[in-house]
Amino acid sequence: MTRLCPVLTALKASVGIPDDEPLIIAGPCAVESESMFDETVQMLVEHGIRFVRAGIFKPRTSPFTFQGMGEDALEVIGRVAAKYAVALVSEVMESEQIPILSTVASVLQVGTRNMDNYALLKRLGCQPLPVLLKRGFMADSKEFFLAAEYVRREGNERVVLCERGIRTFESATRNTLDLNVVPIARLATDLPIIVDPSHGTGRSDIVIPMARAAIAAGADGLMVEVHPNPPKALSDGLQSLDFERFAAMLQEVRAIYAFVGEGGR
Ligand code: PEP
Ligand code: MN
Repeated sequence: MTRLCPVLTALKASVGIPDDEPLIIAGPCAVESESMFDETVQMLVEHGIRFVRAGIFKPRTSPFTFQGMGEDALEVIGRVAAKYAVALVSEVMESEQIPILSTVASVLQVGTRNMDNYALLKRLGCQPLPVLLKRGFMADSKEFFLAAEYVRREGNERVVLCERGIRTFESATRNTLDLNVVPIARLATDLPIIVDPSHGTGRSDIVIPMARAAIAAGADGLMVEVHPNPPKALSDGLQSLDFERFAAMLQEVRAIYAFVGEGGR
């Protein structure tokens, strides 16, 4: 059964992603410097990626670790985005950051820790940029879908769901990627859903199989962390793909997306 998803269609069209390709948002966990960001975006553009992760406010578990470049990075990411004509996706942690981020970002991301920050969700409903809503790591699917409604109820229909793993007793992975939620979302909502196998696993050695599985399950796309030198990354290096593995993943997921076809999504 073909599903009509105007939010997805418009988002892809806004950056020229063909209908028969998945919506891929890729980039480093955090922007660390202009040179690493430029190098990464250059590679992404060479592979036809139009939406780039550009984290500058980072919600880290430990306050003693890198917290993102913050406002200092705005100029840097704006320059790189203009150079390569890419659209940026950046996380908003509090309402006060919306105006600043809106000067450079095309999509505002709500992280797992803020999925139930209803004041923030309502504010995002009153501004024009699309919202990428990540699932709370303790949220069930119903709570996840209702969080999206907090944005939509205020008038902003442009919400994309993102499954990024939930907390379980399993300790081999950082989170448990709940791919059940992909077909459930398709039945229960009219919103697009993408999957983040980077945070969903926490391990770069299993990101590719889970990316494949996500697309096979009917996801509309992926959010993936990629870094020029993962062992040297200031955040989430363990789950970041290097350029070579990213290119391999892309080829595979594009083929699976075409194979699944609109009928299977
Ligand atoms: C991220 O995408 O950078 C991030 C912090 O993800 P999450 O909120 O899913 O942990
Ligand atoms: Mn990260």
